[in-house]
This record gives sequence, C-alpha cells and structure tokens, in this order.
Amino acid sequence: MKERKYPIYQIGAKWDQDNFKGNGTSYSRMYRDDPGDMAYIDAVNWWVNMLITPKRDGVSLIERHPKLISLHCEFVGYEAWCLGWFSHYTYNTHLTDEELLASFDQFVWEKSPLQRNLDLPSEYRDPNIGTYCLMGADDRWRWKGLCHCEHCKAQGVTRIDH
Ligand SMILES: [Zn+2]
Repeated sequence: MKERKYPIYQIGAKWDQDNFKGNGTSYSRMYRDDPGDMAYIDAVNWWVNMLITPKRDGVSLIERHPKLISLHCEFVGYEAWCLGWFSHYTYNTHLTDEELLASFDQFVWEKSPLQRNLDLPSEYRDPNIGTYCLMGADDRWRWKGLCHCEHCKAQGVTRIDH
C-alpha cells in the first residue's frame, strides 16, 4: 500500500468573553506539505475568522468582547488520517477504497491504546502512552463508509464519518 503520511498541527485558542470565562476550542489540521511558518499565519487567520463569523444566534465572538488568553499552533506529527468532527480525512485519494479502509483500520488500531488512556481519569493516565480522541471511530459499527462527494473532491480528501 502506497500510503503517505502528512504533517498534522493542533491549533487552539483560550479566551474569556462577556458571558463566559475560560472558553476554548481546538482542532487538528492536516497539511499536504510541510507548511513551515505558514502554520502560524493559518492559526492567526483561523482566530480572526472565529472572531468575525456570526454564530448561530447571529452574534459574532468579537461582539462579546473576547480577551484572548492563548493561541497555540503545535506540530504533533505525521499521520495518514486527521481528525474532523466525528470523522477523519486523508489526502491519500490515490488508494482504492479497500486500501483506504485497511489504512484507516490500521490507524484506529494504533490509536486505540491512546483513546483508552484518554478515557481514564487524568490521574490514572499513563504519560508514556499519550492520548488521542477517536470520536467513536474505535467502534467499527459507527463507520459510515468512505465519502467521495463533490465537497471532499474539491478539497482533495477522502473522508470517513463515524
Ligand atoms: Zn464527502
């Protein structure tokens, strides 16, 4: 299997706002090629976008007077799959569906001990194992099959929802 691994960055922010203290969010981003310092620019752009984009109630974060506590952008390693919202995606679109499923199966198998470590109360976690959130992918019955929709094609990815 000619599976490639790609650089993954964890990007996140913590902030206080009018109606909520200690708010925070983060996400994983997979790059096709090593982004170098561009990863930091992307993290700043992500934060700016978070500030100005209206939420479901029509109010943007900037209107809630946020005070940024921290913005972080960290290289976490090379992986074949990147976590999305109850999904994973890869740029390995040249592989057959069978190869992609085998690749994802292997990925989940490798990450399962890290998910089990994450499931433990923090004081019982093994610091040598690390943690990873599979968002349900460790239950194979949740796999919805590979997605090859126009949206995925436009981004050059194959996605699996779970
Ligand atoms: Zn899709």
